Amino acid sequence: MISSKYTIREQNEAQILNQIIKEKEISRAKLSQVTSLNKASVSAITKKLLADHLILEKRIGELNTPGRKPIMLTFNNKAALVIGLDLGYNYIDGMLSFLDGSEIRRFQLTETTITKENFFQLVDSVITELTLQLPQTVYGIIGMTVAIQGQVLHDKVISTAYDYLTDIDLIQELNAKFDFPVNVENEANLSALGEYTFSSHFENLISVSLHNSIGAGIVKNGKLEIGKKGYAGQLGHTILFPDGRKCGCGNHGCLKQYCTTQVIYSEIKQAKNLAKVNSDIIAELYHQNDETVQKMLGDYAKYLAIGINNTIMLYAPELVILNSALTKKIPEFVTMIQNNLKNQFAKEVNVINSPISWNPAIYGAIAFSIQRFLNIEQLKLDSLK
Ligand SMILES: [Zn+2]
Repeated sequence: MISSKYTIREQNEAQILNQIIKEKEISRAKLSQVTSLNKASVSAITKKLLADHLILEKRIGELNTPGRKPIMLTFNNKAALVIGLDLGYNYIDGMLSFLDGSEIRRFQLTETTITKENFFQLVDSVITELTLQLPQTVYGIIGMTVAIQGQVLHDKVISTAYDYLTDIDLIQELNAKFDFPVNVENEANLSALGEYTFSSHFENLISVSLHNSIGAGIVKNGKLEIGKKGYAGQLGHTILFPDGRKCGCGNHGCLKQYCTTQVIYSEIKQAKNLAKVNSDIIAELYHQNDETVQKMLGDYAKYLAIGINNTIMLYAPELVILNSALTKKIPEFVTMIQNNLKNQFAKEVNVINSPISWNPAIYGAIAFSIQRFLNIEQLKLDSLK
């Protein structure tokens, strides 16, 4: 019935499908109007999309509309399944969803020691959990995208901070393991794609991931800006202080030497003489008006704002979205960053916490695989709204 589920959808077909997704319900006549494709082409393309089970026909107004009943076309979001994975330093998050990103199941491994030796076994255990009792769909799982913190170019990991991934051809190993196509992309880029696809109506936005590293995912005119070698948006390696702290990249004074979560945690741990530190402990101290923590977060906000200011001046986004456990638990931290944007252009740009309640990179990973399967690049889905 289906010759290949991974064939590239041709451009007109992708355009029609995207329009149906956007409009939710649309007639063939309206499709022809808005896409400027003639009625015969629209009819042929929708016939194919119906045969491929990617769209459904819905009759409306049957009870009280006189005359010919219009047939509306809708997207069949339950035609296929997608997996998103986010590999962290000590965690693996995973989600299984339908073709519109609506969640079927999620699974998290937290505070896990991931090593070269147990890595693939851990990935297997996450996938096994996610794929227990799969819902019946026409296509089954059409792809999995993996988010990692590091430099990625065309599904190849160029460099990563995770020891457990060094000297592993991640994509080749995963593709050999699973019978669906696997992609890999940078975590900050995927977070930006997740925000673009699921949470925002903007075409230009920047998502700043503040974790063990600092990365900016840049969406420009609806497309991810990764640069020729995939390292565009490595905000952590922009220079904050000339001749400052030495960085592994070869420079001195990089932003990441002053305010990754790792640096923030260890400096606060030392300053407050704490036995243990995490985002909950810092949030608690902050909200108890601990002067040291408030002052330190004020400084970190200033540093981050300089990095964000510089990025805004380069890309002029409509929105900056922060993705971090710290900003989630201390919303005032976002306000401090916003207040440090004093430049007349940058201060007009809103800085907000991610509206996605759980891991935006996972949603970006899901969106990445859906985009490839449908061959639609500027895809907006509203399953989270
Ligand atoms: Zn650096």
